[in-house]
Amino acid sequence: MRQATDQGLYIHVPFCHQRCHFCAFYLEIHHQRAAAEFVASLLTELHLYADASPFDARPLGSIYFGGGTPTTLDAAQLTRILSAAVDAFGLASDAEVTVEAHPGSVTLESVRTLRSGGFTRLSLGAESMNQGELDRVGRPGSPLNTRQVVTIAREAGFENINLDLMYGLPGQTVESWTRSLQEILALNPTHLSCYALTVEDGTALQTAIRRGMVPAPDESLQNELEDLAETTLTGAGYRRYEISNYSLPGFASRHNRLHWTGGHYLGLGPSAQSYVGGRRFGNVSNLAAYHSSLQNGRRPVSESEQLSRAHETCERLTFGLRLTEGVVLDETGALSFPGLRHAIATLTVDGLLEGNGNVVRLSSRGRRYADTVAVALLAGLEEAPYRGSALDFSALPRQQCTAAANDMIVEQDAASP
Ligand code: SF4
Repeated sequence: MRQATDQGLYIHVPFCHQRCHFCAFYLEIHHQRAAAEFVASLLTELHLYADASPFDARPLGSIYFGGGTPTTLDAAQLTRILSAAVDAFGLASDAEVTVEAHPGSVTLESVRTLRSGGFTRLSLGAESMNQGELDRVGRPGSPLNTRQVVTIAREAGFENINLDLMYGLPGQTVESWTRSLQEILALNPTHLSCYALTVEDGTALQTAIRRGMVPAPDESLQNELEDLAETTLTGAGYRRYEISNYSLPGFASRHNRLHWTGGHYLGLGPSAQSYVGGRRFGNVSNLAAYHSSLQNGRRPVSESEQLSRAHETCERLTFGLRLTEGVVLDETGALSFPGLRHAIATLTVDGLLEGNGNVVRLSSRGRRYADTVAVALLAGLEEAPYRGSALDFSALPRQQCTAAANDMIVEQDAASP
């Protein structure tokens, strides 16, 4: 019988001190007054949900403060929110409580307050250990900040530390990426997230590339850097447990697993997304509208969709495939949909999926095209079967591949009643 997955809480803090050139997230530039107003509204939202909890009786397995940059709030504000969340929903004794931080936005004193206030995991956006690479994407801070924060976080009692890294940054080379990985490994993090740089619409990075000021990410170099990360990190004892995530044994992110295993999570704060009881819903991505809704006693939800059983099944499959362990088909219910069965078979013949009895997972080639696989599975479910290698996604660079995949979604939506 399938084990009940965790349930978790996500708190979205929408402030940063400045916008990195590649960032397309909803955010506001931090100032003290806006931060204080945000905390007040967030506590109101929290109490609205506490009065009619969407969770079952179990305490939360994880709480995650993301953003934005949560540590633009002071440590006392963050621990106050955490304490209110624990009072509202309960917290398992072995729960994971993460706060994302920018290396330039914490001190020994603030990290101590966070640790003693109940946070158990610190996630730092290091991105690169090369100053020039950080500067070229407008990323504040320095490799020295990262080293210092890891040191003070340990001193404050944080054993579980994640570092985010990016590959494919302008000017990054095999040599500089190798040095970044070695310097990061010397810091002994328990967890590493490695993301390929993507060029989002409307970002300063996109403008800089269009004007020829920085080069566009090179697809084949990105692939080489991704492979280098896998070889280096697994050689150092880390396990690649998801497309972009590596951990030492016992330190896979409990909160992130919620998303990949069909667990329930409630998101609070502007633009936060939730998935509870088969329903996906999202908050308004506007701080003024967020305040206004709560001042009128309403939840600031701007979009909501109850998933059909078929779409829930498809999501469990596509998210689960991100995990290197893959998914057990019987547990997803995917086999009861002929279109999905056909898509899985075709993707396997095309070498994007690989199977072993009842378990299916992305192949190493499929990991580069996870979005394409997801679209193909959705198309199969909707009886618009994946046409296999006739589309030849593998011949496309990643960006075009995603665009082609999006086109398929649009076509599919247009064909739907
Ligand atoms: S710190 Fe993160 S959320 Fe803030 S601007 Fe940079 S990438 Fe975006």
